[in-house]
Order: sequence, then structure tokens, then C-alpha cells
Amino acid sequence: MDKVCAIFGGSRGIGRAVAQVMAPKGYRLALVARDLRVAQAAASDLGGDHLAFSCDVAKEHDVQNTFEEMEKRLGPIRFLVNAAGINSRDSLLVRTKTEEMVSQLHTNLLGSMLTCRAAVKTMIQQQGGSIVNVGSIIGLKGNSGQSVYSASKGGLVGFSRALAKEVARKKIRVNVIAPGFIHTDMTKHLKEEHFKKNIPLGRFGEAIEVAHAVVFLLESPYITGHVLVVDGGLQLTM
Ligand code: NDP
Repeated sequence: MDKVCAIFGGSRGIGRAVAQVMAPKGYRLALVARDLRVAQAAASDLGGDHLAFSCDVAKEHDVQNTFEEMEKRLGPIRFLVNAAGINSRDSLLVRTKTEEMVSQLHTNLLGSMLTCRAAVKTMIQQQGGSIVNVGSIIGLKGNSGQSVYSASKGGLVGFSRALAKEVARKKIRVNVIAPGFIHTDMTKHLKEEHFKKNIPLGRFGEAIEVAHAVVFLLESPYITGHVLVVDGGLQLTM
């Protein structure tokens, strides 16, 4: 049977790098993002018969329809990676608009809850599956100016651990990757010179370095409820 994996946020950055690691390993991939054209370009760059889907993870109906469509075209989803996320420019809580809070929580936290719920239904029927949610070191350590983002990513850890307990008997594993600063569109406005002095390994990470850790968790049969930090040692200094 095909090893089918849905990668939300698979069109760019960390999610796209995960797809680049998984494609040569024989997985059939669904790359999901809001911008279908970018997702299609990423899927066709992989070669093979991987597919692209447009979906806003913050919208319940979008997520439901996307899972129906993915399963119709690819078969049951056995693997799920939640890398869709946003991080609006840093702002102190007192200056953060409520709409901005809701938007970040809906995309980063509710979005992963919705995709996990849809995937777990299928995985229970299939009697197995594996999920990796992409959190952040900021969700574990906090950071001034990022309280809402930190809450969304910290919430994802609690959610993932609880879900791991809930579905372990069904042979479904749920883990979290917590990256530090990684070179992607999300961090391109940051001055690396300024931040790298706090990173023991002395540089930002590459998306592919996170991707290898994501795939390690996805494929490790005896790891569940784990948070794997991939941050060049940044947490040691936070
Ligand atoms: P990018 O901005 O490079 O990519 C984000 C991806 O998520 C894109 O594919 C984007 O596609 C998709 N996306 C964003 N919002 C939605 C949405 N509402 N519905 C569906 N897809 C969406 O970010 P990164 O690769 O850097 O980030 C990936 C994850 O890693 C995020 O959760 C981020 O918080 C986390 N992370 C990143 C770090 C970093 O330093 N880069 C550090 C720690 C954590 P589209 O815009 O077309 O929807």
C-alpha cells in the first residue's frame, strides 16, 4: 500500500524541505497550502506523482474538504506533518490587536487540531499512523514581543502530548519538532548577525536540517509524545 503523507505548509520552507526528504523514500505526498500555484510548483519539482491542494487550515470546511479530496485521489493518509504556520512581526501584547491574536491561534493551533482530527479518524480505521506537529523553541521558552505566537506553539505541545496518550492504543504516534531560527521566508526579515551570537552553533539552521529531524520522528516506531528541539543549541542560552 502507498505510504501517503499530507504535508500542510508543504509549499515553502520547512514543509517543502520535509517533502524533499520524503519523496525519494517512496512516500506519496500531498502538499497543502493556501496558494495552490506555489504548492503545485513544489509538487512538480519533486518529480513523481505527488499532488498539491489548496486549503486554509484555519477553516474547518476547507480542512474537511481537503481530506476528502486527498483520500479520494491518494488513498488513506497514514502520515501527517503540520508545518503550516504564521508569525506576524513581533509586537508587545499591549499593542497586539485581537484579530491578530485570533488569526495566529487559528492558523498555528486550531489548524493543527483540525488536521489532526481529520487524519486520526482515518488512521484509526487503518490501525496506525504517525503525526509530526511543528512547534517552536519560542513555544517552550517564551520571548518578549511574541506572547501570542508563543502561546500558539506552547499550546501545540500540550495538544500533541494529550493526543499522543489518546491514540497510542490505536498505534498512532504524535510528536513535535521545536525549531530555533531557520532560514525560510518567515525569518528573512531578521538580521542573522544580530541573533547568531546567542546560538551556540553560531548560525541559523537550514530547512533541510529540520526536515531530517521531522522524518526521523515520523518514522521512529517507539517514540511518541516527544518534543525534539532543533535549534543549534539556542535553548541553552534562553
Ligand atoms: P514559511 O513562511 O516558509 O512557510 C509557511 C508555510 O505554511 C507555507 O507553505 C504557507 O503557504 C503555509 N501556510 C501559512 N498559513 C497557512 C494557512 N492558513 N493554511 C495553510 N497553509 C498555510 O514558514 P516556515 O517554513 O519557516 O515555517 C513552518 C513552520 O515552522 C511554522 O509553523 C513556523 O511557525 C515554524 N517555525 C519556523 C521557524 C523558522 O525560524 N523559520 C522557527 C520555529 C518554528 P501559503 O502561504 O500559500 O498558505
